[in-house]
Amino acid sequence: MRFDTRLVQIGQEPDHGSGDVVPAIHITTTYERRMQDPLRYFYARGENPTREGLERCLASLEDARFAMVFSSGQSAAATALTLLDPGQRLISSDDVYGGTYNLFRTLGRYDIEVEFVDLTDISALDAALGYDVGMIWIETPTNPLLKVADLAAVHHCVRENGIRIVVDNTLAGPALQQPLRFGADVSLYSTTKSIAGHSDVLGGALVYDDEELHHIFSSYRAAVGNVPGALDCFLVHRGLKTLSLRTARQVSNASQIATELRGLASVGTVNYPGLVDHPQYQVAIKQMSGPGSILSFEYLGDPRELFDKLKLFSCAVSLGGVRSLIERPATMTHAPIPLATRLKLGISDNLIRLSAGIEDPADLVEDLLAAL
Ligand SMILES: *Cc1c(COP(=O)(O)O)cnc(C)c1O
Repeated sequence: MRFDTRLVQIGQEPDHGSGDVVPAIHITTTYERRMQDPLRYFYARGENPTREGLERCLASLEDARFAMVFSSGQSAAATALTLLDPGQRLISSDDVYGGTYNLFRTLGRYDIEVEFVDLTDISALDAALGYDVGMIWIETPTNPLLKVADLAAVHHCVRENGIRIVVDNTLAGPALQQPLRFGADVSLYSTTKSIAGHSDVLGGALVYDDEELHHIFSSYRAAVGNVPGALDCFLVHRGLKTLSLRTARQVSNASQIATELRGLASVGTVNYPGLVDHPQYQVAIKQMSGPGSILSFEYLGDPRELFDKLKLFSCAVSLGGVRSLIERPATMTHAPIPLATRLKLGISDNLIRLSAGIEDPADLVEDLLAAL
């Protein structure tokens, strides 16, 4: 079965009793026990059929044996971080989601040090390695600068050290990039974004192939209870079915917008991996089947005035949904990052991030051109 068919059918098998073509949502928190029953379902923090349907689908999309879903992307990320032991070092992409940066700050109390490295530079990664590195955390493309790390090259660099590679694949999503195929141990998602796709539910997921990881993640999730509710799993799974259709339209819209922005006097650099002069254009072609729905650019005027003039783009954080959004990382998504670090990374006060939705591209371009 191919990717687009799996999206619609895996984990959504019709119910043989009633004939429902959409499986019922299991809202129960507890399961009746009888002497002769096998011990499969016990309590909803541990197991739930609606959640498991979503997990089977997400695992199958990456040909992985396991997927585990969570109440948010952050709780998926926090669970992945439990693979680190006290005293170990974590090497991370230098340009990460602001919330990830915040989450890393909690690691100090476990004596885990985080080192930010530009992972587009393999020699910088090589120099940062050491016996105490337990994990590499990669965001690619990065957010908001859209830098692309070469996943196979990172894997090649660290493979002999037993270091776990976690890839936050939220921006690209599984339709455009599949990190496990390039040596990653874990693909991480905020399913809140393109997977659910409609900006109406929070969720997270980890996808992986290793049974030992499954043991660690499932025991941890059952212990701390960071599970999504059944209704949320239903919404995420309903959105997931149209992921390929939405992604194709979003990539096409983002590409058109990136091309239009480039010629404008009020616009400086445009960051989008689909532009041939993007520094990692060739890497993007090698590991992604499309350059994504997110781009960023330098606006030479006042960003607040720009946002006020736009009629179709809502000024809001988040990304990957059907509605087009625009935001200013310096004061919104990346506000937690200290000023000096932010400026060093290139996240200036004039940087604007845009998430292309599925609207008619002519309307989106018209709205932007009028405002710019
Ligand atoms: C939104 C986001 C997260 C966090 O996900 P939540 O569902 O909001 O908890 C993590 N990583 C990236 C790249 C994101 O965009």
